[in-house]
Amino acid sequence: MSSEAPIALLSVYDKTDLLPFAKGLKELGFRLLGSGGTAKLIRENGLEIEDVSSITKAPEMLGGRVKTLHPAVHGGILSRDIPSDLSDLSANSISPITLVVCNLYPFVLQTSKPDCTLAGAIEEIDIGGVTLLRAAAKNHGRVSIISSPSDYQTILDEIKANGKVSEETRRGLAIKAFEDTKSYDEAISDYFRKVYATPGVEDNMKASAGVGYQRLGLRYGANPHQKPAQAFVEKGEMPIKTLSGSPGYINLLDALNSWGLVKELSAALDLPAAASFKHVSPAGAAVGLPLDERAAKVFGVDDLKDLSPLACAYARARGADRMSSFGDWVALSHTVDVPTAKIISREVSDGVIAPGYEPEALEILSKKKGGKYCVLQMDPKFEPAEIETRQVYGVSLQQRRNDCKIDESLFSNVVTKNKDLPKQAIIDLIVATLALKYTQSNSVCYALNGTVIGLGAGQQSRIHCTRLAGDKADNWWLRHHPKVLNLPFKKGTKRADKANAIDLYVTGTAFEAEGGERQQWESLFDSVPGPITKEEKKEHLASLKGVACSSDAFFPFPDNVHRAKRSGATYLCAPSGSIMDAECIKAADENDLVFVHHGLRLFHH
Ligand code: 5GP
Repeated sequence: MSSEAPIALLSVYDKTDLLPFAKGLKELGFRLLGSGGTAKLIRENGLEIEDVSSITKAPEMLGGRVKTLHPAVHGGILSRDIPSDLSDLSANSISPITLVVCNLYPFVLQTSKPDCTLAGAIEEIDIGGVTLLRAAAKNHGRVSIISSPSDYQTILDEIKANGKVSEETRRGLAIKAFEDTKSYDEAISDYFRKVYATPGVEDNMKASAGVGYQRLGLRYGANPHQKPAQAFVEKGEMPIKTLSGSPGYINLLDALNSWGLVKELSAALDLPAAASFKHVSPAGAAVGLPLDERAAKVFGVDDLKDLSPLACAYARARGADRMSSFGDWVALSHTVDVPTAKIISREVSDGVIAPGYEPEALEILSKKKGGKYCVLQMDPKFEPAEIETRQVYGVSLQQRRNDCKIDESLFSNVVTKNKDLPKQAIIDLIVATLALKYTQSNSVCYALNGTVIGLGAGQQSRIHCTRLAGDKADNWWLRHHPKVLNLPFKKGTKRADKANAIDLYVTGTAFEAEGGERQQWESLFDSVPGPITKEEKKEHLASLKGVACSSDAFFPFPDNVHRAKRSGATYLCAPSGSIMDAECIKAADENDLVFVHHGLRLFHH
């Protein structure tokens, strides 16, 4: 074999189709070099191949930990066809390597075996192979890196046809190799995150001081059969600490989305903010404006005195749609105080996220649900990365995070004749629009007095969102009717039962029910209340005014404008861009509404 023969270095764990490939390379004039096991297999099958040690002049050592890690190998791979590199090679008697064939130790396979020990896992971490892949991929301008047996035949065909591997193929091979090393390293860090952060696991070790673990083990995924489940960050420290309980996957989805909402709400309006989430959408959200006597009764906190602004925010968020908020996830923008913890402690709720807890507040919350209530502490300084990635059905999707800012400046383009947009309306538009930013689309939100009063989420049709949110706003307003405020509930009726009974009452469903269902409803009262009549309802609903209504995308038809108006909307905002924009503005003008157009679509999934 002439010393000018191109060199192919082979070092593979997976030896599938290795022999025909090596034979093909040999026939094409390659000088073959191989690491221990690879060279042995080829040689035993009658093909001539040199050991890597023939160029390194050093034996494999440390039980295989060092096989190809040597300047004779990596100089040969990394050298370019430039005079200084060529003279370095010749000064050190190194020959350039043209083709590298490498695949890695099966780390994932080995560590998924139930009897895999930490020591065993560590030995499965391929060092030299990753270096071969990375070096050859870096120098793909000259070198071909073949990491998958499925590419062997293509490479042989190309060399046979053109005498070399094309630049285009080398680029594709390099991307494959970089992706191999990336997923390999991800699997390794994932393994260590799990082993080192899970108490009781064999060979468990403590993190060195100041270097926190980046992982939070989760009870299960979206459903109990989806195990294992975890949350982790790839850079920096995990911004969430579990102070009590054990969160699940949906808890974390709620916690992270609701935290984003309250952080932004509070920053935009300079007030404490709260959100009550269910299934990754707000059931309620509000800022901490004070509650008058009637509002306190509607929001179910009239028996509590000295509510802090944070407590007012949560009472508003929790009390706007009490049925949807049953079993909620709570987010609070500020350190949780005792009044707020007391409100949470008597509601049916799954967990809470906040930047901190007063000691007594934490004690109250940690006792909830027999100690199972989930209390998370969020690092308020945590800033998510600009680019976010997730996988759906095995495919990775990436996008810039929705980091748009929502403040007063968004509401400057009033397109209707009526342009009167008072300060409170702007506050309410900010609350409604920020809530949409964190609501599963399509979505429409009504807000009043710094409080979400109706939110329609996750509907495929916009008018269905507008109706759903409007019906919720109506329901909320009907709960202000004197007949509801004075319902003669029996002493000791549970808060959740009251909420359900009030819903049946204001929707009129209670009076359509018969038999046991009706009896059950009636049994909650000292004396059975009469209905709110159609006329009373109409008159009461007509008194709801000044509501702000925001939409996460444009209104495609004016029916949305008319429906919003029927639930008290005076102020509307939506992105422009519908071919029916002019019709929607006309409908708003007919109703003397103030309609703001902006350019910000807020789909969220
Ligand atoms: P062989 O079966 O040829 O003895 O080993 C092939 C495997 O060793 C390949 O999976 C390759 O990635 C890996 N490898 C190559 N060089 C080194 C090295 O220097 N150190 C370690 N730990 N693995 C290597």
